Amino acid sequence: MKVVVIGAGLGGLTLAHGLRRAGIDVVVYERDAASGRPQGVSLHVDERGMTALRACLPPAHVAMVEATTGGPRERTLTLSDVDGELTAEAGRARPGRQVHRPLLKAVLLTDLDDVVSFGAEFTRFEQRADGTVRVWFADGRTDTADVLVGADGIGSAVRRRYLPDVQVVDTGRRMIMGAAPLRAVLGTGLPGLIGDNPASAHIRGTTIVVAVLRFTESRPSARRRWLPPPAPWPVRPITLLGDAIHLAPGFGGNLAMQDARHLCEALADAHRGRLGVLDAIGTYKDMMRRNGFTSASAKAGT
Ligand SMILES: Cc1cc2nc3c(=O)[nH]c(=O)nc-3n(C[C@H](O)[C@H](O)[C@H](O)COP(=O)(O)OP(=O)(O)OC[C@H]3O[C@@H](n4cnc5c(N)ncnc54)[C@H](O)[C@@H]3O)c2cc1C
Repeated sequence: MKVVVIGAGLGGLTLAHGLRRAGIDVVVYERDAASGRPQGVSLHVDERGMTALRACLPPAHVAMVEATTGGPRERTLTLSDVDGELTAEAGRARPGRQVHRPLLKAVLLTDLDDVVSFGAEFTRFEQRADGTVRVWFADGRTDTADVLVGADGIGSAVRRRYLPDVQVVDTGRRMIMGAAPLRAVLGTGLPGLIGDNPASAHIRGTTIVVAVLRFTESRPSARRRWLPPPAPWPVRPITLLGDAIHLAPGFGGNLAMQDARHLCEALADAHRGRLGVLDAIGTYKDMMRRNGFTSASAKAGT
């Protein structure tokens, strides 16, 4: 079996390691040059991301990641904008650890020299009569695979061709958000001052809103009730992972790596003859829809 992955991001590279360790022929095509581009410094990796890395990467790579993560967060520092007081609260930290993003990327790229092809911008694919998928790149290159995986991020060109009805809508607005748990500001008198209505201030085209938000139902349970995963789409030897199919502000990297782990396990089963390739992709897709769209905000429906 040969798998072509479009995109050498967190998900695509995690998948590439896992497939190679399962003995599956894999090629990753990345639009950027090998030198890459800056993508921030810190990434919060939780148990989903770490479990995926442990399942897919060689042990030495995992040891490298684990050795270079920040320590567990045991307390949260809060600077009150009401009285300027700095408070430290124990036991309320978000589970997981910080990793140095460029370092994680470097670890993920290590030993994949023969797998990742840089400067290769995917443009289109075509499913052929024999069931294989042919892919084209901007520089005229082509390749053929048994399975095509779109791990090419939020602007995914694979998704645009595979699921053309799915739209990413840019509202043109930009927002900087901050939140404090209500209990952290209870003693400040702020919730009482604001009441149930948002308080807003307009300053030179920018609006600042302060509001009290009390959930009547936990967000995961409400999301399960009100935001069902999108309807299944037909299974073909083409699939998507990570930001290419679901958006999760703040933990999309973890979901991308988790998708990679589940897809790798399913394709490895197909490789061993336990499942047909389409059944493997269908199994992965069902799991990804459940995990990605119930724990993340759905980017769009199909
Ligand atoms: C400021 C910021 C902070 C964040 N912090 C966190 C965090 O703490 N924890 C967390 O879990 N997540 C975090 N995220 C989200 C996380 O970065 C993404 O969800 C994650 O990178 C998605 O991984 P991916 O593999 O799906 O896609 P990406 O990492 O976006 O990788 C996609 C790759 O595909 C390539 N590509 C795109 N188009 C093509 C094409 N046509 N042909 C070939 N290659 C192509 C791109 O160049 C890119 O390398 C943060 C995001 C931002 C913006």
